[in-house]
This record gives sequence, C-alpha cells and structure tokens, in this order.
Amino acid sequence: MPLLVMKFGGTSVADLDRIKNAAEKVKREVERGYDVIVIVSAMSGKTNELVNWVETTSPLYDAREYDAVVSSGENITAGLMALTLQEMDVPARSWQGWQVPLKTTSAHAAARIEEIPRDNIDAKFAEGMKVAVVAGFQGISPEGRITTLGRGGSDTTAVAFAAAFDAERCDIYTDVDGVYTTDPRITDKARKLDKIAFEEMLELASLGAKVLQTRSVELAMRFNVRLRVLSSFEDNDETSGTLVCSEEEIMESNVVSGVAYSRDEAKMTLISVADRPGVAAAIFGPLAEAGVNVDMIVQDISEEGRTNITFSCPVNQVARAEQAVLKAKDDGEINFHGLVADKDVAKVSVVGIGMRSHTGVAAKMFESLSAEGVNIKVISTSEIKISVLIDRKYMELAVQALHDAFGLEKTA
Ligand code: ASP
Ligand code: MG
Repeated sequence: MPLLVMKFGGTSVADLDRIKNAAEKVKREVERGYDVIVIVSAMSGKTNELVNWVETTSPLYDAREYDAVVSSGENITAGLMALTLQEMDVPARSWQGWQVPLKTTSAHAAARIEEIPRDNIDAKFAEGMKVAVVAGFQGISPEGRITTLGRGGSDTTAVAFAAAFDAERCDIYTDVDGVYTTDPRITDKARKLDKIAFEEMLELASLGAKVLQTRSVELAMRFNVRLRVLSSFEDNDETSGTLVCSEEEIMESNVVSGVAYSRDEAKMTLISVADRPGVAAAIFGPLAEAGVNVDMIVQDISEEGRTNITFSCPVNQVARAEQAVLKAKDDGEINFHGLVADKDVAKVSVVGIGMRSHTGVAAKMFESLSAEGVNIKVISTSEIKISVLIDRKYMELAVQALHDAFGLEKTA
C-alpha cells in the first residue's frame, strides 16, 4: 500500500468541528487507496496553557515533569481524531509517542529523535487498520520517561515518520495555504510558491517565516522527504499548497525565491578591542556559554593593534550578551574600550538557490535599498542568501522594495 503522512497543526484541530474537517481529508486519502499516518498537534493554545501551568506551579521546574504535562495536549487530539475517524467508518487507532515507541534522547523539552521502529504500526496496518493517529511532539527517553521535541515539534515528528515509513509524501496541514515569496501582511504582492527547495526553505524558516519548524526541514532534506504545506480550510487537489523538495525536482530555479525578515534584532559593537590571536574565541566563547544566539559577525581592519568587532543577536538577549562580555573583560580575558548596543535594527534577507549560478544579486539588492534611502549597517552572505541589518523602521519598506526589485510579485 502506498503511504501518506498527514500532519495537522493546532489551528487545524482547534475544536471538534475542525477535527471532523481534518478527519474528512484523511478519509478522502484512504478512499484514494492510501494507508495514512496522521500526526496531530495539541488544540491551538493548549500547549501554552500547559506550559503556563507548569511555570506557575514550579518556577524552577523538573524538566521531566514539564514534559509529562506539556505532552498531554497531543494525547487528547490523537484520541479524538481516532474516534472521529471511527465514527466515519474508517478503521483507525491512536498511539502516544511511547507506545510506538518513538525513541528520543534524554534532553527533556528539546529531545532529538533516535529511532522509530515500524513493527507495532505495520502489524496493525497488516490487520486492516487504515489510519494510525500518532500524538506529535513527544517520545520516550532511554530512561523510560516522556520527552518532548521542543516547541513546534510535531512538524519534526511528521517528517521523521515519513522517513521511517517511506511515505510518498508528508503533507503539513496548517492555517495558511503554502509558503509565500514574503509575508503577505507586509505586501499584498506576495505570491504563493508552487515549489521551493529544501535549502531555500531552511533559510526562510530560520529567518522567521514560521511555517515549518526548522528542524523538520533539516530532517526532510537529509532523508529526502517531499513535504507539502497546505491549508486545512480549503478543498485541495494534487497541485495545492507548496511542495518543499530537492533542487532536482525544480526545473527552473529562481535567482531569488523569497524575501525574509527578522524584526527584533540588535547590533552590538565592541570598540577598540586589543587585536591578538585568540581574541574572537575569547569574546564568542563566553557569549555561547551565556546562550546568546550570535548571528552576523564583522571585524574591522586593525589599526595599531586595535579593532572593532560587531555582532548581531536577538534584541531580548542584549542584557545577557552585555553581561557576558563585561565579565570576560573583568576576568582579563578580553580588553576593549567601549560597548555599544543598537537595539533598533531588523534583518532583511533575499534567498534563492539560483544565486549560486547568477551574479549581480548583491549589487541589485544594495541598489534598490539605496534608492529607498535605506542605510545598510551590516552585510552577511551565504551561498544562497544575502542578509542586511537596517534600522527597524525601514524594515517593511525594504521588504517591499526588494520584493519588487527581484520581480517576485503576483504573475496573474
Ligand atoms: N503543541 C506543540 C507546540 O505548540 C507542538 C506542535 O504543535 O508542533 O509547540
Ligand atoms: Mg507549528
């Protein structure tokens, strides 16, 4: 039997009517001849409520009990989905993570999937079950405790099941109808993409296009799982949504496929740092230990043995970053004359696998920003991405200008 994985996010299972709507989509695939593994999230808002209960009860909570509590939202939707399917005469049953068993590491609240043995679920398919409903986001540690995969982890559960069961495709049902060239709230010229390469999606996901958990895209790329993002509130056919797939499946790649942004960034500069071997390690080691997610890094040319080092990080980590570098200074590990934090910056990026073979993308990006009078503060590039830090107040303007400059607008 060909097999499909269908994942329904929190808004798609937010109440009993929506669970029924989702179950109808599952039934349709069964009627088309598929065995289906359904992965469900908790009803929207449920996980937040559970996290809140834990934090209120115990500020310095035991992570094992946190997982015991926050994993429970998915148990409810898994059981309800199985019941709903049974009411529609579709042979279905539910599985909690530990029953599969979905084996993970012991890193509570951020566990990684180690193995998904197929035997239990395959045996039920062999007996005539058509749909296995699995609670997303959860697993079991080697110690036999319940674990969770980190917020948004049901996407990763879905991709891992698709890989383990050689699924034809992994369909991610959500409240948007696909992946867009940019955020439609910023420009109504944003266009839904029919296809996007794993690498591009990875850049867009980690840059803040919140459609898929980044880890799920990494996993899909590693195991070549074809992912489709589509709306659970529309009638879909084979061509609906956006297919996230390998580059080889995309005949004509775009030079630029999307414009991403990240609003809440900060830029920090260490002024006049004594420039000697090991200085970067002495700065970024303590920052990493303090849990600061450093993104861009720029070191100026050195004059008379001193240099400036600039880096960016999320704006809510500025205090932590300041503390870490000031402590390193007190401890005599680094020496600098000043520390400046600019908390009013945003990052805007253009992404596209076509950049590998086309030149002039950076020039075009900088020209269009300059035409809008937007000053660039920091630039960084990778093979398929160019990012700039700019004043936050120009972020929307910059996204719109770049979207126009690279011709991403609606074609119809
Ligand atoms: N319910 C979990 C969360 O809200 C996992 C998920 O939905 O992907 O993070
Ligand atoms: Mg999600």
